[in-house]
Amino acid sequence: MNEQRFACTACGLCCHGMLPLSIEEAFKWAHVFPLAMSATPVKPGTRGYAMKEVAVTFSAGAKKPIQLIVTPVAFIPPTAPCPKLADDGLCSIHEEKPQRCRTMPFYAYKEEDSQRDMLVPRPGWKCATGEDAPVVYRDRKIVDRAEFQRERELLKGQAVALQRYVDTVARYDPGFSMRVQTAATAVVPGRVIVGFVSWLRQNKELDVVGFARRQHPVLKEWLEKTAGDAKAAQFASYYREAIGDLERYLG
Ligand code: SF4
Ligand code: SF4
Repeated sequence: MNEQRFACTACGLCCHGMLPLSIEEAFKWAHVFPLAMSATPVKPGTRGYAMKEVAVTFSAGAKKPIQLIVTPVAFIPPTAPCPKLADDGLCSIHEEKPQRCRTMPFYAYKEEDSQRDMLVPRPGWKCATGEDAPVVYRDRKIVDRAEFQRERELLKGQAVALQRYVDTVARYDPGFSMRVQTAATAVVPGRVIVGFVSWLRQNKELDVVGFARRQHPVLKEWLEKTAGDAKAAQFASYYREAIGDLERYLG
């Protein structure tokens, strides 16, 4: 029997940096998180990803179709804490936190039998993996798989809308196509960040003005937080551009 143990000691370190959200969560938390859309190519033949179920296929201009993981994200610099991380290292919205946080340490973009790597804490993380911690993964199966299953269903449920979104962005934004192809052919595949406003433009039924009113102050706050920080320059530049995009709706 092959078993892995894991327990969270609330060090708070994994609650730093970018956080993937569902489409619904992005809207719900627009007054809290600085939002962006993220597209990450997955190298062909990479083992373990549940690509058929959750990935989006990008074809425009590419020699071969590129498989992408596309998701809204809270676009937060790697060293910055989540705005909902409390001083005691606990989540201040525990009861309603995003599904990605609920499924941790497991990762619903990967197959259930490929989760072992997710149980190896990154350098500095204080997750417990010794004999005192409970067994969470046995013979390549998640012991309590309810949250994993919930996230997988959520990702499957929004895959069609995300495919439509990528098809449209690729059609109207040649810069996006070029960036995806560059990211896909890099030695270490990169991530392409697109303004969240691109999602709003494609979904005409959404209350864009209401969204802009909630999101605009958040982006301004993050622009102030990252101003002058050379390591967060890419983030500050994104916030500045996204603020400009939203201001068109705010008049
Ligand atoms: S929402 Fe809560 S659990 Fe999720 S990253 Fe933020 S503080 Fe951590
Ligand atoms: S890094 Fe590990 S111990 Fe720290 S908060 Fe995240 S899961 Fe818990």
